[in-house]
Formats: sequence, structure tokens, C-alpha cells
Amino acid sequence: MSTTTLKENLTSADLIALEDKHGAHNYHPLPVVLAKGEGVYVWDVEGKKYFDFLSAYSAVNQGHCHPKIIGALTEQAQTLTLTSRAFYNDALGPYERYLTNYFGFDKVLPMNTGAEGVETAIKIARKWAYEKKGIAENKAQIIVAENNFHGRTTTIISFSNDEDARKNFGPYTDGFLKVPYNDLAALEEALKKEDIAAFLVEPIQGEAGVFVPDEGFIPKAKALCEQYGVLFIADEIQTGIARTGALLRVCGDCNCAGHCEQQTTYTKPDMLILGKAISGGVYPVSAVLTNNDVMDVIKPGQHGSTFGGNPLAAKVAIAALEVVKDENLSQNARKLGQLFRDRLNKFIQTSSLVNLVRGKGLLNAIVINDSEDSSTAWDICVALKDNGLLAKPTHGNIIRFAPPLVMTEEQLNECCDIIEKTIADFEKK
Ligand SMILES: *Cc1c(COP(=O)(O)O)cnc(C)c1O
Repeated sequence: MSTTTLKENLTSADLIALEDKHGAHNYHPLPVVLAKGEGVYVWDVEGKKYFDFLSAYSAVNQGHCHPKIIGALTEQAQTLTLTSRAFYNDALGPYERYLTNYFGFDKVLPMNTGAEGVETAIKIARKWAYEKKGIAENKAQIIVAENNFHGRTTTIISFSNDEDARKNFGPYTDGFLKVPYNDLAALEEALKKEDIAAFLVEPIQGEAGVFVPDEGFIPKAKALCEQYGVLFIADEIQTGIARTGALLRVCGDCNCAGHCEQQTTYTKPDMLILGKAISGGVYPVSAVLTNNDVMDVIKPGQHGSTFGGNPLAAKVAIAALEVVKDENLSQNARKLGQLFRDRLNKFIQTSSLVNLVRGKGLLNAIVINDSEDSSTAWDICVALKDNGLLAKPTHGNIIRFAPPLVMTEEQLNECCDIIEKTIADFEKK
């Protein structure tokens, strides 16, 4: 097909109208239509350039269209794309070796989307509970945190407390017990109950508004789980792959970038769930990593996915993880994140509109001084867009700032100028 038959020269307004008419209304996007991305930048259909401060919810940590990742994608796309797991393929084994060495686990179960990774971890934890821990069939409980976000499947939304995510999607899946986030006493009370298989937690709650738990919460929660013989499952789909200034958030504040095990602040989860930036946002890739004693409960025919572990995913993910190491993205995220929070903390002392800046590395948020259901955060995001920076409100009055980690210090300062000017202008209104 010639490219001219594909190109209709549609404007942003035309394209928004098309989505509105022909697509389900399951998102509420900012009114910007993107047509191109490179590094920290994206361009809209009319050619206006923006800093991307969402990075596709932290999937594009390595920057848009990273040449090394795109190179791996195009090369493999011309060779072999999908075999299914009915046969072996020559990319999967090397990828599994690479990934398990990179993160320090015995085995990986490859899937595609984040929600599938979470579902996989839940299934493995339950099976482990029955076959290794001796919990009676169908009795296993998994502890989760209030205000969690783990994806959109029926089972996962069963333990959400976001009404939009849950309401009228029942009946719900049983077997989940909710405790307040960042509350060790409540966690321990729950761990004392019968039939507990696992504790599933985000090391920073991203969707809830970049809620960073107290220093020590993660290692202490893991120690409690160990004490009660319960699996500690870290959902690092958003916090992982250098986003928060370390390879994983469970690394704590060390700069280990892949050599966590020598580090004193490292908390090794019993199961680690990765997605999003494991492919640099190039292809849907997710993974569940755990050691043999847990993974070996899964036997042939008991779990799977047609696309999981396909050769394209394998090659893309290796390239994406190489970029994280080669370009020191953890260190850069840590350094720029500190700069970002220092600058914005100074700025908000002059602002009556912003209450708080919080985050780790380049996963940050500002909290707007207005009611949850006000449109202020949205209106600020529209103004930021007009000034050349794309960000999105999360949960009402919170704006998340998560640029690609390949940003330079100079670019970050330019972005802080835009954010400060936009908010200051807004305050004058
Ligand atoms: C995005 C996300 C998911 C779900 O990933 P999908 O690829 O959208 O299914 C799960 N957990 C966390 C913490 C996430 O940020």
C-alpha cells in the first residue's frame, strides 16, 4: 500500500473527533494529538513540539524511539515475530538468562501487559500457598494496600477501592484483604490471620498520586512477611527500570543499577512484577520473576499466553535494559529528580496554588491546593500543554511529572521554567 492512501492530512480536531465517534470513551485524554516522538520530545499533528512529562505512565523511560531499541525491533521483525510457546524459539532462552541475571532471580515467566503480570503473580502465589504452604484449597488470601493500582482485569479491580474502576463490574473475585498503605501495624495484624498467601504492594503508589511510603516501610514489610511465611510481591511495573533513581524501588536509595545484591538497602521481593519500561515503551512486555521454589509450582498447561515470550519482545526487552545500564539512567533519574524537587520546593514557597511536591527520582507529583473534584489540576495541564509540556492529572488534584530518564540537566531546567511560569500565570487569574 502506498503511504498516500494512508495519509488523509487530518488535523488534530479531525482526529479527536474520529476517536470520539468510533472509539470507546474509556479515557479522557488531554486535547493533544501526537504524531512523532524522539527522546524527551513529542510532536503533535500540526508540528508543535512538547516535552513529554508522562512518558506513557513511565513506559518510555529510555526516551521515545530510542535507536538501539528500535534497531532490535526492526531487525527481529524481519526475522521471526511469533512462534507461540508450542515450540522453542532462539530468542527466549537468552532473554530469560539475561533477565534473571539482571534482576537476580532463578526464573522468569514472560507475559505482555502489566495486568497480565499481576494476574500471573496472583495465580503463582495461590498455587504456592496450596502446594507448598499447605493452605486448604480455595482459602488463600492475598493482602493488598488501600488505593492500590495493579491494572484493569476483573480480578484486579475486585481489590481496588476506586469506584470508577470497580462499580458495576461485579461479581468480584474473592480472596483479597485490604490494609492501609504504609501501615506496618495493620499489615502485621492481617499477616496474623489464617490462610495468608502473599502481600502484593507497589513500593511507591503511582496512580494514587505518587504516594511515597515512610523510609523503611518496604524492608520492614518484607521482614514481617518472612516472619509469617508469606510471599512479598512487589509490583514495580511503574516504579521499576530506573524510574525512581534506582534500578528498582526495592533497591532503596542505592545506586546499584543492577547489582543490588551487594547493597544494604536492597529488599529482595519473593516475586517481582515488571512491565512498562522493560521494553522502553516499544512493545508490550511484562514479566514475573521469582526463585525456583515458587516458580516450580507452575507445570505445563497451567498458565500461558500466545504472545508471552515472543522473539520480538525478547529482543526489544534486552535492548531496552541495555540502554538503562549503558546510559546510567538510574543515576540520571536520581540526580535530576533531586534537582526537580529542590527547584519546585523553592518555587512553591511563593505559590498559594501548590501545596506539596513529592516523589523519588523522576517519579514526582505536585499536589494542588484545591478540592479533589475541582478542575484546577486539569486546567493547569491544559495550560502546560499550551506552553509546550505534557503532563496529566492523577486522582483529582494531583499532577504527576515523569519525563523520560534520558533528559539532560539543561532540559530539566527548561521544563522547570515552563512549569513555574505556567503555575505563576495561573495564580494571577
Ligand atoms: C500500569 C500499571 C499496571 C498495569 O499495567 P498495564 O500494562 O496497563 O496492564 C499495574 N501495576 C502498576 C503499578 C502500574 O503502574
